[in-house]
Amino acid sequence: MIFELLVRRRQDRGAGDSAGRSTSADSLLLSASDKIDVIQALASYNARRVKQMILAINALIVLSIINNIVFDRGLWLSLAAGAVFCVLFLARRYYDTDRPSAAQFIFLWTIFGAVTYITWAGDGLRDQIILGNAVSLVFAAILATPRHFLIMYVAVILNAIALGLANEFGWVNYSQFAFDWSNVGDAVMLYSVTAVTVFILAYDMRQLLARYNKEYRKAKASEDEIFRLANHDTLTGLPNLFMAEKKYRDEISGRHGPKASVLMVGLDNFKAVNDSLGHVFGDNVLKMIAGRLADIAGEAFLFRVGGDVFGLMSTGATTPEAVAALADRVQKRVSAPLEAGGHVIMLTCSLGGAIRADGSVTFEHLRREADIAMYRAKDVAPNTFKLFDDTMNSQVLASASIAAQLRTALEEQQFRLFLQPKIDLETGRVRGAEALLRWFPEEGKPPVRPDVFIPVAEDTGMIIEIGAWVIQEACRQCKRLQILGHRDFAIAVNISAMQFKRGTLESIVMEALADSGLSPASLELELTESLLLEDEYDIKGQISRMSAQGVSFSVDDFGKGYSNLGNLGKFDVATLKIDQSFVFAMFDSAQDLALVEAIVRMAKALGLKIVAEGVETQRAASMLSLFGVDSGQGYYWSKPLPMDDFIRYVGNCEDGKAKIA
Ligand code: C2E
Ligand code: MG
Ligand code: MG
Repeated sequence: MIFELLVRRRQDRGAGDSAGRSTSADSLLLSASDKIDVIQALASYNARRVKQMILAINALIVLSIINNIVFDRGLWLSLAAGAVFCVLFLARRYYDTDRPSAAQFIFLWTIFGAVTYITWAGDGLRDQIILGNAVSLVFAAILATPRHFLIMYVAVILNAIALGLANEFGWVNYSQFAFDWSNVGDAVMLYSVTAVTVFILAYDMRQLLARYNKEYRKAKASEDEIFRLANHDTLTGLPNLFMAEKKYRDEISGRHGPKASVLMVGLDNFKAVNDSLGHVFGDNVLKMIAGRLADIAGEAFLFRVGGDVFGLMSTGATTPEAVAALADRVQKRVSAPLEAGGHVIMLTCSLGGAIRADGSVTFEHLRREADIAMYRAKDVAPNTFKLFDDTMNSQVLASASIAAQLRTALEEQQFRLFLQPKIDLETGRVRGAEALLRWFPEEGKPPVRPDVFIPVAEDTGMIIEIGAWVIQEACRQCKRLQILGHRDFAIAVNISAMQFKRGTLESIVMEALADSGLSPASLELELTESLLLEDEYDIKGQISRMSAQGVSFSVDDFGKGYSNLGNLGKFDVATLKIDQSFVFAMFDSAQDLALVEAIVRMAKALGLKIVAEGVETQRAASMLSLFGVDSGQGYYWSKPLPMDDFIRYVGNCEDGKAKIA
C-alpha cells in the first residue's frame, strides 16, 4: 500500500479492515520506525569509510615495515611505523565501540603526527611527504568540526614555519638542499589553498544536509501528526475504534489467537452533564474519565468508541468472572466524586461485556455484542453490568422480523428510490444524484431507514434481489430525467459487498442499462472501502470490466473504515466520497479541518475526484470548495427526495444551478 491515510472517526473514526495501514504502512505516511535519520545514516557511512581507510593505511604500514627490515633502513623507523599502526588500530576500535569522535580525533592527529615526523626526519620542507598534511586538512574538513579543522590548519602552518625556523637557526641540517624561506611560503600557500577549498566544499555539503534534514524532520512531524490524528481520539488522546480493531486483527484474531473479551463502558446520563454545565466542562470530564480508566486498565487495551462510550479489550479477563471483576473495578473508579471547574459531580457508568467464543469472531461482532449488553444494562438501571448472552439478542429478533417482512416488501412494491442531488461546487450546477433506498411497509407512515433494513437484507441475502431492483429503477429514473432535459444527468447507486461477491452484478448492471437505454457513462456505482481489500471474488476484474464499458465507481464513506488511499490506486475507482462525519467535524478544531484538507490534497494527487457528503451549511460548502472538493451532497442543498419532488427541485434551480457555495 502506498499511503495509508487512516482516517478518523467512525464515531471518532474508525474501524474497518485495517491491516496496517497498518495503519499501516507503506503509506504516504511512511511509518516513522521505517525511517533512518539522514544525518545519522551519513555519520555511519563516514565511520565505515574511515574504518576502511584505517585498514588500508595499516596494510601499507605493515608493507613499509617489511620494506624497512628487508632494506635495513633502521629500527627506529619501523618502531615508529609500528606505533602508528597501533594507534590507528585503537581508533578503529573506538568506532566499533561507538565513540566516533574519539576515533576521528585519533585518526586525524595520527596522520598529522606521522606526516610531520617523516617530514622532520626526512628531507624537511623539500620532502614530498609535506603534501601529506594537505591530505590531513582534507580529512579534517570532511570528518571534523569546523573548530577542530581550524586547529589542524594552524598546526599544519606552524609546523611549516617551525621547519623554516629550524633551518634558519641550524637546528636541523638537510645538507642536500639549500634552505630558502620561499619553501615555507610555498608550503603555507599550498596548505591555505587546500584548506579554503575543502572547507568551502565541506561547508556547502553540511549546509545542504542540514537543510535536507530540517525539511525531512518537518515532513516526518506532519506525517506523524496525521498518523496520530487518524488513530487517536482528539479529545482524550486515547486510541480510537480504528486502532482497537487494528490491534484485534494484528494480535488477537485468527483461529488460534488468544481468548479475548470486550467491555463497553457508557457513562450514564452524560447528556445531562453537557446540558447543565456546558460542553467545555463535559469535555474535561471525559478527559478525566479517560485518565481514570487508563489507571485501572492494566493489560486491557483502552480506547474511546466515541461520545461518552469507552471500550476495554482484554486478553487477560476472558471468563465471565474475570470480566465482571474488571467491570467492577471500572464502576468503582468511575463513580468516585469528580472535581472540575469548581463543581463536584458523581457519575456512574453502564457496562456491557462480551467474550469471544472462537477465533472466527470479528472485532465488529464482539463489539456489537458488548454494545447490546451495555444497552441492555442501561435499560435495567444505571451503574449496571451485563455480560452478553444469546437470550439478549433482541436485535437479532428484530432482524428476524424485518427479514420476514422484507420478503413481501419486494413483491408488494414497498420500496421507493429517493434522490439526493450532487452539486458541482465550482459551477453550482446539479450534476447528478445519489439513489437512496426507502422502505414503506405501511402507506402513509414514515419509511424504514436503510441503516435498519439493509444490514438485514445483507445478512439474509435478500440484498441481491433488492439491489437488482435498485439498479433497474435508478437507471430508469436517470433516463427519465435526461429525457426531461437534464441531458448530462448521472445517477449513483449504492452497491453492497454481497452483490459483488455473488458474481451476477455485471449482468444485472448491463441488463438495467440496456432496458432503460441509459448510457453507462451516466451510471456510477458506490462501493465501500473494505470491499477493495477482498482478494477473492475477482472484485478488481469486475470493476475494471464494468469500467471498460463506461460505468464509473466511487468509494463511499471514505475515512469511516480502513482507509487506504494507496489501495484505491489499484482499482478503477474515479471518485472518493469523504464520509460525512469529517464534514460535520470540520469546524470542531484546526486539526479536523487540516485532516479534511489533507485527504482532499492526497486524493487529488492520486487523480481522484472528490465528493463531500453531509454538507449542511454554507460555511462547510464554501470551505470544501476552497479545498478543491469537486462536488457536494447534503441537506444544505436538499434532503433525499422522491422522484417527483426531485424533478421539481431541479426545475426550481435557477439556470440549473442550486444555491451556490
Ligand atoms: P450513504 O451512501 O453514505 O448515503 C448518504 C446518507 O447520508 C443518506 O442516508 C443520506 O440521507 C444522508 N445524508 C445526506 N446528506 C446529509 C446531511 O447533510 N446530513 C445528514 N445528517 N445526513 C445526510 P440514508 O439515506 O439513510 O442512507 C444510509 C446508508 O444506507 C447509505 O449511506 C448507504 O450506505 C445505504 N443505502 C442507501 N440506499 C442503499 C441502496 O440502495 N443499496 C445499498 N446497498 N445501500 C444503500
Ligand atoms: Mg452512498
Ligand atoms: Mg456515504
